[in-house]
Amino acid sequence: MTRNPLVPRLQGLGATIFAEMSALALATDSINLGQGFPDVDGPDEIKQRAVDAIWAGRNQYAPGPGTPELRSAVVHHQQHWYGIELDPDDEVFVTAGATEAVTAAMLALVDTGDEVLALEPYYDSYAAAITMAGGVRVPVTLRAPDFRLDVDRLRTAVTPRTKVILLNSPHNPTGAVLRHDELQAIADVAIEHDLVVVTDEVYEHLVYDGQHIPISTLPGMFERTLTISSAGKTFGLTGWKVGWATGPAELVDAIRTTKQFMTYTNAAPMQPAIAHGLMMDDPYFNTLRSDLRRKRDLLCKGLADVGFDVFVPAGTYFASADIRPLGYDDGFAFCRELPKLAGVVAIPHAVFYDHVEIGRPLVRFAFCKRDEVLAEAVDRLRKLAH
Ligand code: PMP
Ligand code: GLN
Repeated sequence: MTRNPLVPRLQGLGATIFAEMSALALATDSINLGQGFPDVDGPDEIKQRAVDAIWAGRNQYAPGPGTPELRSAVVHHQQHWYGIELDPDDEVFVTAGATEAVTAAMLALVDTGDEVLALEPYYDSYAAAITMAGGVRVPVTLRAPDFRLDVDRLRTAVTPRTKVILLNSPHNPTGAVLRHDELQAIADVAIEHDLVVVTDEVYEHLVYDGQHIPISTLPGMFERTLTISSAGKTFGLTGWKVGWATGPAELVDAIRTTKQFMTYTNAAPMQPAIAHGLMMDDPYFNTLRSDLRRKRDLLCKGLADVGFDVFVPAGTYFASADIRPLGYDDGFAFCRELPKLAGVVAIPHAVFYDHVEIGRPLVRFAFCKRDEVLAEAVDRLRKLAH
């Protein structure tokens, strides 16, 4: 075939940075602080329930909206943590991870030429999902050092073509957690312009400073917000790909329409196991947070000692750093060299930007790793110090 068979609008998407960097980590035997996945699996009691479900014969298609116990557990979780009341039949929908929920939402809510406001830097699948839907992404940039929302920019970014505001808080890759005043400003814009908000809250339990506030809890927001989360981060089970979307019946029904023809259903025996996880008592969630806070502090201090300019994240399991104090200025080149220089893999911020220049000197390190692995990574990175 002489010409590229991929449709033109998808040709710029390339391969996800996570695949490239994880392959590089394997090939060079480096410590992988790139792709965000824990190096210790989630709780045995959850895994055991998946094994039990397999042996109990729950191996055929799960119901389209998800198994009843998982939908009930999502209702319990949203009520318990945020006081949100949901109907398990109409207002909860299980998806193949948050990734599928975001893509299903974009395909369902965004038409050709519609604009989607998204916080930049954005998680790479957002750009792909918006593009697949034929939409146009409009970045609202969060800038170092504190990565706060530029409310004026948000307001001026709205046009008659704006359809959706796509949020992510806690935010990957910056670690920013949107504050109440920022969420209120977004809510004001959404209500004034009658926009739908799609919010990716997969790091909801990984907040170290401040607190996670679902935007759907602000006055007038439930009816226009589709909230997405998943089991991957909360239970250290990223490979299970169990996610969910919640919100008013019309929005949930919109993503049912697209999702049912993407995968229909997934992970039947894992769904009851995740249901168990969502029903677990608070100490599990509190320990997850305090363990990750310790890891954050360990890595951030280590990176600062090496000489990086570190932006300590309020949430997520990623820390971002500016490489310029170490004499580098291109995060992409730096991340490609880092395995050779120090035996460590990180992710360049630039891949998450349309304004590539803004992200160029920044890199992201994941700290969801055993303490000794983080300590070893910091030791290796000391080679960069002059
Ligand atoms: N959203 C964000 C912001 C993420 O960082 C990730 C990856 N961890 C996902 C979605 C993907 O979640 P899942 O693995 O459940 O598809
Ligand atoms: N969300 C993870 C990260 O940001 C990676 C998930 C993936 O590989 N797509 O590192």
